[in-house]
Amino acid sequence: MSFGAQSIKQRDAWQTALLDLITDPAELLRLLELDPALLAEAVRAATLFPLKVPRGFLARIEKGNPDDPLLKQILPLGAEAAVTAGYVSDPLQEALVNPAAGLLHKYHGRVLVTLTSACAVHCRYCFRREFPYAENNPGRLGWEKIMAYIVANPSINEVILSGGDPLAVSDLLLQQFSDRLRDVPQVKRLRIHTRLPVVLPERITASLIKWLVSLKQIPVVVIHANHPQEINAEVKRALSLMREAGVMLLNQSVLLAGVNDDVEVLARLSEALFDAGVLPYYLHALDKVQGAAHFDLPRARARKIHKKLLERLSGYLVPKLVCELPHAGSKTNLSETIRDL
Ligand code: SF4
Repeated sequence: MSFGAQSIKQRDAWQTALLDLITDPAELLRLLELDPALLAEAVRAATLFPLKVPRGFLARIEKGNPDDPLLKQILPLGAEAAVTAGYVSDPLQEALVNPAAGLLHKYHGRVLVTLTSACAVHCRYCFRREFPYAENNPGRLGWEKIMAYIVANPSINEVILSGGDPLAVSDLLLQQFSDRLRDVPQVKRLRIHTRLPVVLPERITASLIKWLVSLKQIPVVVIHANHPQEINAEVKRALSLMREAGVMLLNQSVLLAGVNDDVEVLARLSEALFDAGVLPYYLHALDKVQGAAHFDLPRARARKIHKKLLERLSGYLVPKLVCELPHAGSKTNLSETIRDL
């Protein structure tokens, strides 16, 4: 991760934290007082998808507990090397909807732009764990192609900054991108899909808030939390800074076996999010990416959990249960389908 010519003195706390991620499985196991016997498989799995965890996220994991729901999201496991039928490297076939480097056009009216391949955390279930980021780094010159594509498609009125994690880049780069977007009047909303407010809440600085409120487009920030244990005091503080600035906040979660496949846990997550000013938006069934099959659960069970959640909570606290299918014109609402997609 590079922040250009910034000196150490000029770096914000979040940038320093990004340069100090835990990337060594041995250090992870040592700090969490976990069985050293887990090391060999963790090292092997980290060669498939490197380990990355912010130290602040680690502090929310219970020491000595191999079943901690936050640990399960970040610990490389031998199971990732299993080849499972039906699980592939590009489950959403994004390569087919990639008209320019850094640009994905899947659905009517909106495009997704990847400003960076960097994330602060590597979620082991990530459907982009094998995404060819090297071929998809637009760079400044690539932005011109992206803008030209948007202008040539007047139906596009929303740009989604996605991952990698768009908030992993500097405020300066965000500003430069949004300045360029200012010249494209048809774009009304800038949506930011980010896990940083949850895994590295110090990223939500006064300067970032200033950028958000200065946007010409309406900003919508979609965070990604899967378990109520992720929402600690620092996360609440970061979220309230954005809420107080008038930014709409939504959350998307992934339904993960052994992490949050439980009505009680999901209900607590929705309550914690709402208390922090965030509306639960989507509960995604796992995208069938190779290496993550051990996180999946049968769609029938997912529907059952979701139905119980509906019976348990006010409607606005219940995220939509969806999955993404290649070639579909929108996300598929799983609670309305009976097939095991
Ligand atoms: S933060 Fe998002 S893009 Fe990055 S690894 Fe996690 S799920 Fe994937």
